[in-house]
Amino acid sequence: MAEDDFYSILGVSKSATQDEIKKAYRSLAAKHHPDRNPGDKSSEERLKQINEAYEVLGDPEKRANYDRWGTADFQGIDMDGFGDLFGSLFRGFGFDDFGFGRRGRAGPPPGQTLRVTIEASFDEAFFGTEKEIRYNRRTTCEECSGSGAAPGTSPSTCPTCRGRGQVVRSMGFMSVAQTCPTCSGQGQTIGSPCPKCKGTGLRKDAQELKIPVPAGVEDGQAVRIRGAGSAGPRGGPHGDLIVVYSVEPHHIFVRRGLHVYMEHEIPFSVAVLGGEIEVPTMRGNSMVKVSSGTESGAVLRMKGKGVHTDSRKGDQLVRVKIAVPKKTTKQQREYLKDFESVFT
Ligand SMILES: [Zn+2]
Ligand SMILES: [Zn+2]
Repeated sequence: MAEDDFYSILGVSKSATQDEIKKAYRSLAAKHHPDRNPGDKSSEERLKQINEAYEVLGDPEKRANYDRWGTADFQGIDMDGFGDLFGSLFRGFGFDDFGFGRRGRAGPPPGQTLRVTIEASFDEAFFGTEKEIRYNRRTTCEECSGSGAAPGTSPSTCPTCRGRGQVVRSMGFMSVAQTCPTCSGQGQTIGSPCPKCKGTGLRKDAQELKIPVPAGVEDGQAVRIRGAGSAGPRGGPHGDLIVVYSVEPHHIFVRRGLHVYMEHEIPFSVAVLGGEIEVPTMRGNSMVKVSSGTESGAVLRMKGKGVHTDSRKGDQLVRVKIAVPKKTTKQQREYLKDFESVFT
């Protein structure tokens, strides 16, 4: 990991100030600039890494996320139009976008992209946590390195299609290309299949992964983890894993983004005269001021009582419902009659 660590790429310590990071970046970028190193591939590659490291560490918000989640290869997927929160959490982890560690286009195709659901309670999604997921995937068989051929043997070119994977059949006037029935389009046949994987080149692989549940994550949001899916046939690279968050609803609160919404009853007298009421929040009860003449349906804003991320704080919004007493005493009824006569 040290190689890919953004701090070591820029040659700064984890406690470096934003200014120090900027300085380090400038001098490294100048040193590896293509004008100074014409045709030097390693400098070019280095400059790419430096730029990518600075893109994250140069931005305090991205840097905080990077420090928090390490170098995990996460990338947020905007599935329901609320990409902002996720974008800021996971941007900067897509090393593969810059070509590091990814195979070229040539070679066997990548494996299946898998999808798992991660269940989170309302509290977990509110405060953020980390959860372990378990899933099954297919990985390359070590015995035959994915070729499917028994050790000491190798696949041979398919005699039917001569390695092209397709056969051409003539149907009347037309010629139709079809997937080769002998090799299923692989172009190769295996004389003696690998005993471990029975010639498939793949084996079952039970995986365990720690997945962050970021504070503020919403039901239905997802992250893509590069290379955590199944391996492809014939030694092809691993596909991705998509982790979808499923967040349980709460019996009092509803969340949208970083804000929390709820309804709360207040006594008629408080609505008329104004005062303070106690309201439940995700961090315990809290007092809110009600101004005099508050109507039913009015919304009180409790600043900073919503979801907290490293850089932002959501609010709690309380929709007021005026409580109408179902039972009244004789004295209360008399007071209300007096009240009525004064107001009409
Ligand atoms: Zn095998
Ligand atoms: Zn064939």
